[in-house]
This record gives sequence, structure tokens and C-alpha cells, in this order.
Amino acid sequence: GRRTLAIIKPDAYKHADEIIYAMKKHGFVVVQERRVRLSPEQACLFYGEHLQKVFSSRLIGHLSSGPIVALCIASAHCPNTVAAWREIMGPSDVAEAAALFPNSLRAKYGNTGDQVKNALHGSHSIEDAAREIHFFFPEIIL
Ligand code: ATP
Ligand code: MG
Repeated sequence: GRRTLAIIKPDAYKHADEIIYAMKKHGFVVVQERRVRLSPEQACLFYGEHLQKVFSSRLIGHLSSGPIVALCIASAHCPNTVAAWREIMGPSDVAEAAALFPNSLRAKYGNTGDQVKNALHGSHSIEDAAREIHFFFPEIIL
């Protein structure tokens, strides 16, 4: 995967410029960026895989609660952008990120009191990245 999808979630939107700066400093190139607010229906479509989970309604509620930044990013140095971005974000549990990876972006920008407010999203796999990039940027040809 030479490209992945990153999202700056509503809880971290106020730090968007700082996060994008950090992203670039870590060697990622922003291919395309879009600032949007999703409806709950659109958030549901995006998070389809999580709809069975107990926290899904809170996750959908959070993602649709305010503006987000969707970014199609590429790694300048590493051939596996999907994995490289997940590493820079750190674990999805912010408390774990803070304890084990204090320099990770989720440790810096996430909220240790609420697991849905972990600041960032990154695609899990190359296949997910393709679907998620298409969701926000249907005009991009991968
Ligand atoms: P993401 O998909 O956002 O990059 P992830 O892959 O590390 O994060 P997933 O297991 O896919 O984590 O969960 C998706 C999102 O759901 C997480 O980013 C987090 O916001 C939320 N989440 C995960 N586990 C929990 C939980 N136990 N309670 C509340 N929210 C959770
Ligand atoms: Mg996930």
C-alpha cells in the first residue's frame, strides 16, 4: 500500500494544522485533503465494519459530531504507508498509547478518558485503504 486514509476526528480537529505538520515531518505526503462534516448516516457507511460492536453508536455519534479532516496520504520513505501511518498514530487505546508510545500522535492528541476520542483513524489494510480513500475521494484513481 503506497497510500492510506487518515482521519483527524472531531475531538482533534482543533489541532488539525499541527497534526498535519507532524504528519509531514514524519515523512508523509498529503495527496489530497478534505475538511467535511459527516451525517450519522455517512459515518455509518464509513464505519460499516464496526456496526456490530457494542460501542458502535458512540463511535458513529462521535465521528458525526463535528468537522473532520480526511486525508489521502502517501509515505515518502516507506513502501507500506498503511502500516507506517498506524505506527505513527500509536495504539487505538489512548491510555495504552500514552503508557507505551508517548511520542505517538494518539498519545499527544487523544483523550485518555474516552476510547472513541482517540484523535485519529488509519486504514487497517491495503483493501480497506482503497475503499476508504474512494469514500472520501471518489475522483482519485489508485
Ligand atoms: P481506527 O480504525 O480508528 O484506526 P483502530 O483500528 O486502532 O482505530 P478499531 O478496533 O478499528 O481501532 O476501532 C475503531 C474505533 O473505535 C477506534 O479508533 C476507537 O475510536 C473506537 N473504539 C475501539 N475500541 C473501543 C472501545 N472498547 N470502546 C469505545 N470505543 C472504541
Ligand atoms: Mg479500525
